[in-house]
Amino acid sequence: MEQAKAHLTGSPLSELTDLLIEFGEPPFRARQLFHNLQARRLRAFDEMTDLPQSLRARLADHATAATLTVESRYVSEDGTRRLLLRTHDNLPVETVFIPEERRDTICFSSQSGCGLKCDFCLTARLGLLRTLTAGEIVEQIIIALNDAYGAGTETPRGTNLVAMGAGEPMLAFDSLMKALRVMADKSGLHIVTNRVTVSTAGVVPRIRELATIPERPHLAISLSAPTDELRDRLMPINKRWPLAELMAACKDFEKSLKPGERFTFEYVMLDGVNDSNEHARQVANLLNRHNLKAKVNLIPHNPAESLPYLPSSTERVEAFKRVLAAKGINAFVRRPRGRDIYAACGQLAARRTNAISQLPMARTA
Ligand code: SAH
Repeated sequence: MEQAKAHLTGSPLSELTDLLIEFGEPPFRARQLFHNLQARRLRAFDEMTDLPQSLRARLADHATAATLTVESRYVSEDGTRRLLLRTHDNLPVETVFIPEERRDTICFSSQSGCGLKCDFCLTARLGLLRTLTAGEIVEQIIIALNDAYGAGTETPRGTNLVAMGAGEPMLAFDSLMKALRVMADKSGLHIVTNRVTVSTAGVVPRIRELATIPERPHLAISLSAPTDELRDRLMPINKRWPLAELMAACKDFEKSLKPGERFTFEYVMLDGVNDSNEHARQVANLLNRHNLKAKVNLIPHNPAESLPYLPSSTERVEAFKRVLAAKGINAFVRRPRGRDIYAACGQLAARRTNAISQLPMARTA
């Protein structure tokens, strides 16, 4: 499908205002349009019945609010939903909706595929297909919310976002920051940056840049190895920005933390590879040496046939956690969500198998 039309889902009110001025419309029409797109989460101009029919037709001629199509939808036994979407140029995009008792978390993708080649991650096998636009990022969240609550309904307060789907968000920096600004608008989705966490494999210059942004999201760093030797092997990005540089950037980032805010290191637990007590001591020493007051999330590896790793045992994860605790490092074990539908960390690779339910969904839903 070709796409020459402007995708308005990623446009802040100011851009909509410019567009409607070109159309010779008054500014309040832009506010109505923004409300329809972001607060009501409508993806078809025709549904925006508070706009005159002629304007709706003109918008549909020049622009679009729906560039992603839902290819399939997988529902896990734990309630997690994985939405496999397609861009207008037929690339896969995955979004995961994780219901929790008090709030929902939406895990979105910043790129189609990923170019980073982390050895334990299935997304890496796709290679980088393309970086997503701001509109494609916002539209993922809109589709996930509509799938859960229906279009036109109020966006539930307290929805959390994590940029932990496919791709390296720090290499989609401009799209991501624009999307976050649009989503934070209180007359739209009103998901403030304080509810957003961006995870990076360690793009050092962008960590530094993020620290300078006043309304910035929280940061998580995927560490997964305490030495350059091992990290070079598991996460080749380490050859470009080795641990000393990464730790120095984290140390600087710390200065931008708000009271009570901590940043997180993520550590994928790979059986017999990075999960010994010695590795735990090395992790603790690395963080303590840099006097970093971070917490560590231990993520048991989510396996896939084509990945040459197995998850660490529960006992091993607990022992690892105890070694960290003894050295003053707070660690949490992340419960895998949606493993059965290939929705868990590192499993997003546009898989069409293992569907528990594969329901068709309307394009504008
Ligand atoms: N590229 C960014 C964003 C992806 S977040 C990053 O690397 O941080 C995805 C998280 O899942 C990362 O912390 C990554 O280390 C982790 N991960 C990747 N493959 C995994 C797997 N097979 N099992 C468990 N976690 C995995």
